Amino acid sequence: MVCLYLLSFLLLGQRGSNHTAGRFLFNQQDSRTLSRQLRAKNIVCNPKISRPLPLPPKVLSNGTHDFDPTVIVLSFDGLRADYLSRGHTPNILSVGTSGVVAEYMQPSFPTLTFPNHYTMGTGLFPSSHGIVANMFYDPTLGEDFNYRIPDKSWDPKWWGGEPIWETAVLQNQRSGVIMWPGGESLRPVRPTYHVRYKSSTPVAEKMDTVLTWLDRPREERPTVMNVYISEVDTAGHNYGPDSRRCQKALVEVDNAVGILMDGLRQRGLDKVVNLLLVSDHGMSYVTPTQSIYYDDYIDPSELLLEESLQPHLAIRTKDPKRLDHIYKTLKSAQEKHNLQFKVYRSHEIPERYNYAHHPRIAPVVAIAEPGFVMTRRDMGIAVVGVHGWDHEAEEMRAIFMASGPSFPSHGPERLQPFENVELYEIIARTVGLQVEEGATDGVRNGYVSRPC
Ligand SMILES: [Zn+2]
Repeated sequence: MVCLYLLSFLLLGQRGSNHTAGRFLFNQQDSRTLSRQLRAKNIVCNPKISRPLPLPPKVLSNGTHDFDPTVIVLSFDGLRADYLSRGHTPNILSVGTSGVVAEYMQPSFPTLTFPNHYTMGTGLFPSSHGIVANMFYDPTLGEDFNYRIPDKSWDPKWWGGEPIWETAVLQNQRSGVIMWPGGESLRPVRPTYHVRYKSSTPVAEKMDTVLTWLDRPREERPTVMNVYISEVDTAGHNYGPDSRRCQKALVEVDNAVGILMDGLRQRGLDKVVNLLLVSDHGMSYVTPTQSIYYDDYIDPSELLLEESLQPHLAIRTKDPKRLDHIYKTLKSAQEKHNLQFKVYRSHEIPERYNYAHHPRIAPVVAIAEPGFVMTRRDMGIAVVGVHGWDHEAEEMRAIFMASGPSFPSHGPERLQPFENVELYEIIARTVGLQVEEGATDGVRNGYVSRPC
């Protein structure tokens, strides 16, 4: 690992920035370093695609105007990796054909929208940036985070790390964020342009906004754009991943990508601007027979905060003395009835989850097996599709593909799957932003493939 870092430093000279503003980390530095070393060992060098990404040129031209290196990142919520083989997404696939495409991108645990979008934005695991679920309790603050309550959830005290749209501003570039979770956080450094979340905004309108930004004069034009797109996730939850409505949503977002690509071509920007297409997690069916009714074993009124219908259940008890009893009761119920979940004390959660060392992670966590949910008899199941399981589960796989001047084509060779903590440094490298050594939980130093 040391050799890998040293080699990258010597070859590319990308490191060494003193830029640290805005970053803070909750978990133990030693643990993060160890985790990085272990994960770096798993990266396999592929001689066919071993070249590093080229450093961006200082300036590019579309024939009439100068452009700084620019990247547009589109995130399709809930777009499972295998959806792309269904024949509904020719525009999305064409990005990978003309650039690079990964077999899949691995989300972070828990495979939920807020933790993963903020992970993609910061390069940090949820246990490092602090958004450990969509809803959680902070024992230090004595308060709940709930993504559905914007006035509360945009308070900067919840949001750690430094998202890429802030890095851009801090290094004298400009950023534009459209509805990306975390983008509305009222942190001291705000994106240059920001569009607030509104579920009724058509995806095509978001593409128009991006093109409008690109039409601004160079000194006002954002170089880093993050766009959140919700349609596929909504259809997957309400109708299921194999439903016609999910297909329809795929067609809709793919058409929007077509609108954006046409707009770039009309402006002579298709070879000037980088386009990154990603998703945050996949989706899987759940049925009443795949429910684990935890109130059959423990009394929910003893719990401090419940997030219903989740593959994982964060357990804190109103009376701390009852925690041990609750843990043992669930564990023995699981063993006795061979139930499809595992219950851990927080220090027992396997290392591969990277889910430890943060006070917001509950002292006891139950994690259901893929396809199963933890729910209560009085709640049942209100949706058809769910996500949030083990980040290594096949159904949770996300997408990554990219085209543009920073992503010369690898031909048909697909990139080895990688974790979404790598995305921050890939974006940063694409537009020439400096990233301090060890500032993220990524291990690839901004490369999509490991140089041999
Ligand atoms: Zn999501």
